[in-house]
Amino acid sequence: MTTYRGRFAPTPSGPLHFGSLFAAVVSYLDVRVNNGQWLVRIDDLDPPREQPGAADTILKTLETHGLHWDETVTYQSQQSERYQSRLAVLQQKERLFWCDCSRKQLKGFPVYPGTCRHHLQPRENSAVRLRVDQGKDEFQDLFQGTQHAQLADDYGDVILQRRDGLYAYQLAVVSDDIDAGISHIIRGIDLMPSTFWQRELYRQLGQPAPVYGHFAVLHAQDSDQKLSKQNLAPAVDDQTPEHNLQQVFQLLNLPVDPDNSVAMLQQAQTLYRRECLFGKQQMQVDFFKLD
Ligand code: GLU
Repeated sequence: MTTYRGRFAPTPSGPLHFGSLFAAVVSYLDVRVNNGQWLVRIDDLDPPREQPGAADTILKTLETHGLHWDETVTYQSQQSERYQSRLAVLQQKERLFWCDCSRKQLKGFPVYPGTCRHHLQPRENSAVRLRVDQGKDEFQDLFQGTQHAQLADDYGDVILQRRDGLYAYQLAVVSDDIDAGISHIIRGIDLMPSTFWQRELYRQLGQPAPVYGHFAVLHAQDSDQKLSKQNLAPAVDDQTPEHNLQQVFQLLNLPVDPDNSVAMLQQAQTLYRRECLFGKQQMQVDFFKLD
């Protein structure tokens, strides 16, 4: 029996770029060396951010690169009832409140100041927030070591459903990861702040939190921004999967010989150690040199 269940959860706002291919490969290798299951979930929660066809393009890119997943792909857009029932559980526990603060009212507050905490019943034109009480949280990150935060002071009451009715990322991710029995979440360090909110949600829902590992995000050479669709990181070229994988392995310092994608991933599994990502928060990618 396997106890490790991991996942890769891309947002279909465009095709995979090199940073998200890197993320897919790292989560894949970490699962495979631990004899786990690797699930793929499409985080299509926010229709305006999506690009038509991007989900299929992403799945095709994963397949082309030999990144074969277990079980069937799931889609956040099909889970609304589950999100709603999780909100109902939290409401019953009196953890939710309805917030109609405008952006202007909240300007200048680094953390939500708790203004609407007394709105314990549903209200028109309001976001739903989780009350996050004072308390310290601490966990061991697989790559970054001990992490801690003062929940109320550093993070505060998080939105679980937006004013426009869309479910928020934090609720959807935790709900899906619970339903899929995910035991390990391996993802980029840019999502570390979300982890404290997500751990709080697991606690409030009475579920054990998974193990987390946050690896370095990739930056283009001489840029202080992570590679992203917003800064026009190029789409991964499906015509050159071996070359693309080789670039990922170079960043991980894994001396994999050129071969077909599947064979290269197999070699990489024999070489991958979590140590290759310890303490790294950023990695520079020089696309001109790589190509
Ligand atoms: N869909 C999220 C993203 O693309 C990742 C979710 C997660 O790994 O928790 O940034």
